[in-house]
Amino acid sequence: MSAIVSLVRQDDYEPQAVAAAYAEACELAGFPDVRGKSVLFKPNILLGAAPEQAATTHPAVLRAAIRHARSKGAARVLVGESPGFQVGDQAFRASGLLAAAEAEGAEWVDFMEAAKLDAPRGKAVKSFQVARAALEADLLVSLAKLKNHTLMGYTGALKNLFGCVPGLQKPGFHLRFPDAAAFALMLNDLAQALAPDFAVIDGIVGMEGPGPGSGYPRKVGVLVASRDPLAADRTACRVVGIDPDAIPNLKDGLERRAWISSDAEIELRGAPLAELRVHDWKPAPRRAKSSLPPFLKDLAVPRPWFDRASCVACGACVEICPADALGLVDDAKGAEGRSVRVDHGACIRCYCCHEVCPADAITVRRLKPRGASRSVKGAGRETAGS
Ligand code: SF4
Ligand code: SF4
Repeated sequence: MSAIVSLVRQDDYEPQAVAAAYAEACELAGFPDVRGKSVLFKPNILLGAAPEQAATTHPAVLRAAIRHARSKGAARVLVGESPGFQVGDQAFRASGLLAAAEAEGAEWVDFMEAAKLDAPRGKAVKSFQVARAALEADLLVSLAKLKNHTLMGYTGALKNLFGCVPGLQKPGFHLRFPDAAAFALMLNDLAQALAPDFAVIDGIVGMEGPGPGSGYPRKVGVLVASRDPLAADRTACRVVGIDPDAIPNLKDGLERRAWISSDAEIELRGAPLAELRVHDWKPAPRRAKSSLPPFLKDLAVPRPWFDRASCVACGACVEICPADALGLVDDAKGAEGRSVRVDHGACIRCYCCHEVCPADAITVRRLKPRGASRSVKGAGRETAGS
């Protein structure tokens, strides 16, 4: 199956320039016919960081997407997302994406209303509960962000669709599939069943280092678009020097026959990839296999570390942790008089806590042997400040 992937250079988020670049990317990649149809855009909101943090699809890209769909005759334009941790519409507002949708008159849809999605070709999961809106829209567009991801290595068009799973159902999948390879199968089962019609990756400013929430904004200067989300993702990886075969869901995707089955099937259009290439992209922290004895796991597999001074005791990490490994406890040394207690024996290293922390209080790194003395509550358990 061949796939066109467009690469359009865009160096900043100046709205008119983004709109022109977005339209060009769509035209080059063969944007589907949306006349008289409903189009649902699924941006990446994650935890609702400000746009300049590069954790979320930029509002200028969403505005360009809405305008472009309208200009092509879409009857309804919808926008929806379910971040990992959500309090009201706080994340939607902080990201600037709700305001962008409102300014363009698009409908914001509730992703918490779920419906069953069968995944008959699923390798790991045969049915999901997903946002009803994603099933009811005529066309689904993954409006992703180019970022590192500490668990998967990279997140873009395919991984972005995990946000179609409502709210706190997501951590349950981390518990069922703690290993990155198994998690990748589930992600692709979901993406294959959702069958998005188009993908655009906002790589104008991406996120390198410890993404998807706590990495470093990095100008890449590109919009990537394709009808084939796997082809878009593999191309975006090549732009920033990530080996797509090292990303479990991008490797598995080639075997599915749902999208491209080799990079040779990609036809690039637009700016030459070689001219866009970023040569010193900082990778995500390496994650070793977790099938290790517990005493080696702490040394070999990066774990979450909690900074007591930065923690605002919001409880987001506690709520999202699929392994019940976290708790908020009274702690006079905590900035808010409380801090996070961690049971590292129970932790499955999914890094959901790291994704949702609004205060950058969680880092992911390996334990240094001498750091074992920080444990304060018995084997494998400690309080924030580690
Ligand atoms: S403590 Fe963090 S990394 Fe460990 S299981 Fe809980 S959410 Fe995942
Ligand atoms: S570590 Fe982060 S997410 Fe967890 S309670 Fe503190 S501020 Fe909230």
